[in-house]
Amino acid sequence: QTHSKGISLTPVTKGVCGSVEIARMLAAHKIHSIGDSHLSNIIRMKEAGVLAKFMLLRSPMMSETEGAAAKVDFSLNSELSILRALNEQSARYGKTHAIILMIELGDRREGVMPEDALNYAHEILKLNSLRLAGIGANLTCLNGVKPTAEKMGQLGAIAQDIEAKLSIQMEIISGGNSANWQWLQETANPGLVNHLRMGETILFGSNPITQAGISGFKHDAFTLLAEVIESKRKPAQPDGEVTFSAF
Ligand SMILES: *Cc1c(COP(=O)(O)O)cnc(C)c1O
Repeated sequence: QTHSKGISLTPVTKGVCGSVEIARMLAAHKIHSIGDSHLSNIIRMKEAGVLAKFMLLRSPMMSETEGAAAKVDFSLNSELSILRALNEQSARYGKTHAIILMIELGDRREGVMPEDALNYAHEILKLNSLRLAGIGANLTCLNGVKPTAEKMGQLGAIAQDIEAKLSIQMEIISGGNSANWQWLQETANPGLVNHLRMGETILFGSNPITQAGISGFKHDAFTLLAEVIESKRKPAQPDGEVTFSAF
């Protein structure tokens, strides 16, 4: 589905806590890399000998920049102080770390504002142990903003602007997560978007936009087992004077 539209895929293992068995299965397919949001999961998969490139799906914390430089091929980034630290650590390890600069497209989670993207890209080019592999977006996460054709076009236009003004070519324009499944089905032409990062759709066979199962996928790959410690009927409303709860 993805390859026929010119899109490379980073399957995401954070939903299975970086399970080595599942990572091995994924790595046997034609994938770009394996993605996880926990550095510790990536290190475990690598140490278990999973043969793939690895993408840290978030900015490393300052305290993780050394580990990310040493162990991870690609990371998603949006903060200059972290990028500078990652550059220093990569230099220490004699490595070049690949950066995907995240762009805020409306979900108000991570990413630089679109008008700042060019400046950030320019700053990354000055850091010799980093390589600007591309840009990306992450929608339908914090506020449920959909990755529409318009949003994907906006990401492509930002990529084009950066490439033209800085005379560079980027290899990855990463459109988003499983919420992009619907867009991928509907679009005849994904434009410049050429990469997705997907966990939920692969693991559960579901389309996050409709919350429905995708036909042709298995929907029962996982069974959640837990011990029940209390089971009773109770009134729905609390009883008593109400103050802050633990949440
Ligand atoms: C978790 C995550 C993904 C994958 O999300 P799914 O909804 O499971 O596909 C993609 N990108 C980022 C930045 C993530 O944190």
